[in-house]
Amino acid sequence: MKKILIVDDSKMARNYHAYVLKNAGYRVIEAIDGADALEKLFSNPDISCIITDLNMPNMDGLTFIKKVREKEEFKKIPIIIVTTLDENYDKSEGFKAGANYYLIKPTKPSALISTIKLLLKD
Ligand SMILES: [Mg+2]
Repeated sequence: MKKILIVDDSKMARNYHAYVLKNAGYRVIEAIDGADALEKLFSNPDISCIITDLNMPNMDGLTFIKKVREKEEFKKIPIIIVTTLDENYDKSEGFKAGANYYLIKPTKPSALISTIKLLLKD
């Protein structure tokens, strides 16, 4: 069973994404911000995919993505940004930081799952 890391400061968003992913047969690990997510990633090196929000306290999504990409062992983990339209980031910043895909909240379960399957090639 593949492990997915969900990074979001909104408990509601984490719960929703976790529900959708568990229903699709994935294991889920949750982190509340970028700093927490880095710790979870180091303690779970078998994580297959990361879904991250951008706007978060402590460490935002763009900083988190850049830090993940700095590590040789995490260079290839697919990263999906899931964000609301009114955040002050644009897609190009996300892709520049190293994200592979960009989805707008609220995400349809089918869009989230098909994106993960596409990136994990499963
Ligand atoms: Mg947020």
